Amino acid sequence: MHSKTNFKKNIKEIVLAILISMLGLNVSNFYAQEESGALPSRDKIADQYKWNVADIYKTQQDWENDFKWIENNLKQFNKFQGKLGDSSKELLDCIKFSEEVNKKLSRLFLYASLSKDLDLGNSKNAGRYDRVSELSAKVSEKMAFINPEIIATPEAKLWNFVSSQPELKIYKHFFDNLLRTKAHTLTKEQERLMALASPLTQVAYNTFGIFKNAEMPFPTVKNPDGKDITISDGRYYAALYSTDRSYRKRVYKGYYKPFMEFKNTYNSLFTGNLKANTFIAKARKYSSNREAALTPNNIPVSVYDNLVKTVNENFQPLHRWAKLKQKILKLKDFHPYDTYVTLFPSTDKKYSYEEAKKILLKALKPLGKDYISHLKKAFNNRWIDVYETKGKRSGAYSSGTTFGVHPYVLLNWNNQLNDVFTFAHEMGHNIHSYYTEHTQPFVYADYSIFVAEVASTANEALLLDYLIKNAKTKEEKLSLIEHNLNAITTTFYRQTRFAEFEEWANKTFEEGKAITPEVLSNKYGEMYKEYWGDNMTVDKEEEYTWARIPHFYYDFYVYQYATSFAASQALVAKIKKEGQPAIDKYLHFLKSGNSLYPIDVLKKAGVDMNSEAPIKAVVAKMNHLLDEMEKLLNEK
Ligand SMILES: [Zn+2]
Repeated sequence: MHSKTNFKKNIKEIVLAILISMLGLNVSNFYAQEESGALPSRDKIADQYKWNVADIYKTQQDWENDFKWIENNLKQFNKFQGKLGDSSKELLDCIKFSEEVNKKLSRLFLYASLSKDLDLGNSKNAGRYDRVSELSAKVSEKMAFINPEIIATPEAKLWNFVSSQPELKIYKHFFDNLLRTKAHTLTKEQERLMALASPLTQVAYNTFGIFKNAEMPFPTVKNPDGKDITISDGRYYAALYSTDRSYRKRVYKGYYKPFMEFKNTYNSLFTGNLKANTFIAKARKYSSNREAALTPNNIPVSVYDNLVKTVNENFQPLHRWAKLKQKILKLKDFHPYDTYVTLFPSTDKKYSYEEAKKILLKALKPLGKDYISHLKKAFNNRWIDVYETKGKRSGAYSSGTTFGVHPYVLLNWNNQLNDVFTFAHEMGHNIHSYYTEHTQPFVYADYSIFVAEVASTANEALLLDYLIKNAKTKEEKLSLIEHNLNAITTTFYRQTRFAEFEEWANKTFEEGKAITPEVLSNKYGEMYKEYWGDNMTVDKEEEYTWARIPHFYYDFYVYQYATSFAASQALVAKIKKEGQPAIDKYLHFLKSGNSLYPIDVLKKAGVDMNSEAPIKAVVAKMNHLLDEMEKLLNEK
């Protein structure tokens, strides 16, 4: 509703994909997959490893029937328009009708998008998806009057409706949430102008994407075999893990070259985005760009400040990791292109899907019997589409909450350790959605982005603990610890650095100070050095990170990676320490959905994101892992 939220929803998936790829050490897998030979067609795969979309609609005709029902009944919204403030009966009937429409719509969507993803080349499936997208736009248009009319109802009158109509009671929190941003909702005519201006606020990000991904030329360097290769994003990330230092350095230097060359273009795009943020914040009467971005989700800016402040007071484990890495690599100096290099290559161990299921059942055991029973249900009832097949969408995801249907998980199993982590991650989302859907009424049966990555990263943390504990060799153990340390470095420290930089840049701009490539580079370089410590030699290239990172266009989004990660580490630590009482609270969290504000949901689970404790839990964990690694290295 506010600012660029629709745009943000579209990029959410991409952001998560980036996060997942960062968490996985085995970047080369992504490229190995592309090169593998012909893929099997779907009829070659046993049913038990394929989705059963009949859980959503038994037949395609059933889908068509629901589609027609919505088309035919949409006009019923007209009779409520202009009347929601008249009586509690009108209000309730309208809400109930909109829920009926939206339940069907989300089912239609789920069926269409799952079918599409299984066979991207199938035009009939694509057509069905396009049809439901168009229908959804029509529904949104028809429903556009509802929230503004509720907000326009005098508050006393609205609360009177709630107390006089028992069926309206459950919507109390929903109304409260709508009224919360009343001060930032504009008049009808002003809202129309905001809607008209909305595409303009996206120009900077769109141009950034086109220029960086398609039009900007990357240089060519020699690969380790002496062949010329053109640098790309993927090759850059893969090279950073390479143990060949001169190759790493070549790709690193080459990758940054065009960003430095086109620094004025990138500066113009970067500030273009800041201008858009400021326009929205000022138009909606927020006191800052950051407040405008955080308020729609009801996250206090103190949560953001607490993260940045506490991390700034706890750089020590990252400095320690840098020193240890430098020592192990026997390097005279330590550079940004040395930060990701693989120290302990993972063993060639392969993991079948069947084996991975057994591992997950054991690794997630600390979450208790109830959780495990649902996990088994997901395993045994075709909620998961496991194998890569011709035309199937790549990557992995969980489908989220669809009322009345269980959530689905898409995988592309490749027998790597990385696949086991992705599996644990997606099952975290899946069971979270399942609990929420089974507990909450439709109005609250989804969860906020702020808590979305908690359950997924909690599962990953439990899996890592289990694997480290059960590793057979020292090499395996070291590799897993390294995996964990890299996850903390990239998801927690790096994303907090981005968040801190983003906040600084917005503030500097809001204060009317000049933003030039030099100003941005100096600040980024300074922060990079603080995070990594004194033995880091910051190359000039690194300072241009601001020019290349799409996250800086996501408007105060990335801090949530760090807070989610911290929350999940703190919850896992509690579960391990306290057992059942902490499990009960965790399950309650998974069941809460949007029935409470996200900060309150976490607080009830035992994590206060306004406090230092969850941030310090990550710091403690990193120190513990470094202790373990040093102990193993000294064992000899
Ligand atoms: Zn995720």
